[in-house]
Amino acid sequence: MDYTQLLENIYQSILPYAKEGKQADYIPELAKVNPDQFGMCIHTIYGEVAAIEQADTRFSIQSISKVFALAMCLSIKGDALWTKVGKEPSGTAFNSLVQLEVEHGIPRNPFINAGAIVMADILLTHLGNPAADFLQFVREVSGTDTIEYNEHVAISEREKGYLNAAIVNLLKHHGTIENDIEEVLHFYFLMCSIEMSCRELSQAFLVFANHRRRFDYAGVVLTASQVKRMNAIMQTCGFYDEAGEFSYLVGLPGKSGVGGGIVAIYPLQYAVAVWSPRLNAKGNSVLGIKALELLTTETQTSIF
Ligand code: GLN
Repeated sequence: MDYTQLLENIYQSILPYAKEGKQADYIPELAKVNPDQFGMCIHTIYGEVAAIEQADTRFSIQSISKVFALAMCLSIKGDALWTKVGKEPSGTAFNSLVQLEVEHGIPRNPFINAGAIVMADILLTHLGNPAADFLQFVREVSGTDTIEYNEHVAISEREKGYLNAAIVNLLKHHGTIENDIEEVLHFYFLMCSIEMSCRELSQAFLVFANHRRRFDYAGVVLTASQVKRMNAIMQTCGFYDEAGEFSYLVGLPGKSGVGGGIVAIYPLQYAVAVWSPRLNAKGNSVLGIKALELLTTETQTSIF
């Protein structure tokens, strides 16, 4: 399979949609990003790699960081994690407060903001050096030691982060989190602010795609069964209230972020990352979803 040609063809086919949607602007630093950018990279478990356009440009991974946080939390707490956060799709927006109140401060799943804020609290409690340890894990899993946080993005998100502040207060009220709310929020925003390229993200997610291989990076050890179950949660919860539509159109487990990135995996075959900042109303990249829909159609690699 000539993956480079395939990705180029996909890019040409989606160009008519290049001006649809708009980038996230509720995080002031992200409003400054040029929305007219696109990158895509695929890694197969057989060692093939194809990358097109701006596949090496780093961007804010935002909610994609929630997958790395889940890997760390599962390795620390095992199944006990599920007493603090659920694993059911939410059907609501990533920053919704509605269910959290009704369900007494237990977030539906780790991939909505409330769930990731609970994971930030767990990591603060259990890691010796939370910011350094988290970054080291992301670097090792992606095989790149230059990945960094973008503190400007994290600080700028706090300035307008009213909804996330409401979520952390509700969690604290219900006793779901242990640490100081400002510390938890800061660490959550810091994880979201990591910058990576499509090439780095698809490399990192290859280890989730290749779930039968031993998972042991920077002290984060997971069994094959745990990685397989993480993939299941990516399938059901990776796209908030668009998880059903993503399954319908693309048919792969994955995770999106409001920086415009999407990573998806075809278990035991490949990981693919795509990035374009213009988002649809649900906060997912317009070109990203279109590109992945074409990829799984052309290669007949949806899991369904
Ligand atoms: N940092 C973002 C927020 O909390 C992450 C959201 C996302 O990428 N969907 O709003």
